[in-house]
Amino acid sequence: MATARGYAATDASKPLAPFTFERREPRDDDVVIDIKYCGVCHSDIHQARDEWGNSSFPMVPGHEIVGIVRAVGSQVTRFKIGDRVGVGCFVDSCTTCAKRDLDLEQYLPGLVVTYNGVEADGTPTQGGYSDHIVVKEGYVLSIPENLPLDAAAPLLCAGITLYSPLRHWKAGPGKKVAIVGLGGLGHMGVKLAHAMGAEVTVLSQTLSKKEDGLKLGADHYYATKDPETFTKLAGSFDLIICTVAAEIDWNAYLNLLKVDGDLVLVGIPENPVPVHAFSLVPARRSISGSMIGSIKETQEMLDFCGEHGIVSEIETIRMEQINEAYERVVRSDVRYRFVIDMESIKA
Ligand code: NAP
Ligand code: ZN
Repeated sequence: MATARGYAATDASKPLAPFTFERREPRDDDVVIDIKYCGVCHSDIHQARDEWGNSSFPMVPGHEIVGIVRAVGSQVTRFKIGDRVGVGCFVDSCTTCAKRDLDLEQYLPGLVVTYNGVEADGTPTQGGYSDHIVVKEGYVLSIPENLPLDAAAPLLCAGITLYSPLRHWKAGPGKKVAIVGLGGLGHMGVKLAHAMGAEVTVLSQTLSKKEDGLKLGADHYYATKDPETFTKLAGSFDLIICTVAAEIDWNAYLNLLKVDGDLVLVGIPENPVPVHAFSLVPARRSISGSMIGSIKETQEMLDFCGEHGIVSEIETIRMEQINEAYERVVRSDVRYRFVIDMESIKA
């Protein structure tokens, strides 16, 4: 066992605070990673505050992890000491079921999430707000050499969460795609959909980030607080990806879809989503959900980002600024992802 230094939530109502815990001794198939940077996802806040009702404490959040390989087990073949690597939202998954071959392990029972989860041996998992992590080789990703490590960290969750539905619903030339919410996930969606060749529209609450949105690659930008947006854009989109976790007028957004259009939820609102049949039936529209992506697809996304030079827009913080950063994310006051510099915890 090796002692790790991190920051943890000790219960849902307390701020995160310094926390020391043990990481396992590396097994033959493990990679030990010195964490350099960790992104701050809104899911970290939901779970640290037990907003999904499934939190275990103490909890070291963080699932947008990048770092350098410090050591490898004797059977590890794909990584060596000094490699630039990443770890995303899960660190193990079902190994027995045949469906694993479909590369959809994120949807199978037996998924072991990076934190607020439990390993097969019963140990609670602890995430990336810490100085190092020990992860099975099969769940470690390679970060392309041309991408800066700090700005690549958010690709491990925000990046793959948008890449996967954009690919699945075939965003590309000739397709009109709308991204709802220009936050951590949303801004990655704009960059990725633009790089795939789609015509991209941002639907944000106001026009305050319009200039940024257009620079990120959006072709159009509309305020959802303006009711005219919903009349002007009725029947416009092939695909709408909604990154918002709040209660919004779902029927109004469904009416923006063309015939056969899809509204895909990636943000997870607390309450049920009320949808009127008339928003779906007369145009054969669908409403769906999507969760992160498989390890294979995450590596594909990282390689795509390497080819297109895509990274996140980040604001780097020190570990002790995390509670203030959480407040700012909740207020939508972030351009566009906080990334923790882990040197600050080692100092
Ligand atoms: P974020 O950075 O806070 O972005 C969310 C955006 O939603 C905000 O920037 C804001 O955009 C918009 N918004 C916020 N409050 C709103 C309101 N009351 N009405 C309308 N729009 C509102 O969060 P994130 O890290 O991107 O995560 C977004 C959601 O996705 C979270 O619920 C997170 O847990 C979830 N998530 C899901 C997956 C998955 O696999 N499905 C993966 C990661 C995260 P504007 O200012 O532009 O309006
Ligand atoms: Zn996340």
